[in-house]
Amino acid sequence: MDDCIFCKIASGEIPAALEYDTPDVIAFRDLNPQSPIHILVIPREHIQSLMDLGETESDLLLSMIEAAQEVARKTGIADGGFRLVTNVGPDAGQSVPHLHWHVLGGRMMKWPPG
Ligand code: AMP
Repeated sequence: MDDCIFCKIASGEIPAALEYDTPDVIAFRDLNPQSPIHILVIPREHIQSLMDLGETESDLLLSMIEAAQEVARKTGIADGGFRLVTNVGPDAGQSVPHLHWHVLGGRMMKWPPG
């Protein structure tokens, strides 16, 4: 996707400090952090949202789980706990139409989310 900001980060066209970097999945700090630790896990491939995942992406999904686990360990939030969020579509406030998981931690979380 030519105009996708996360595709540009994945290709290196837009620089980002990668916290996790594999052929299928990367993770990087959110530009506008909502918690002391706020990292985005994305597939390199352009997939719009969770609704576009299917059986053929099962390996990719596992890779994204491994990325989230590794990021949580690396940033020291794995033991205390963290939140994994993916916004799907306009009602959820998805602002970047490239699948991403928010890994949020480093503070007490509230429920329900806003
Ligand atoms: P969402 O609103 O769930 O689609 O999340 C998109 C997230 O991407 C927001 O939290 C933004 O702060 C973040 N974001 C947008 N552009 C960048 C960027 N260039 N680098 C890092 N994070 C970004």
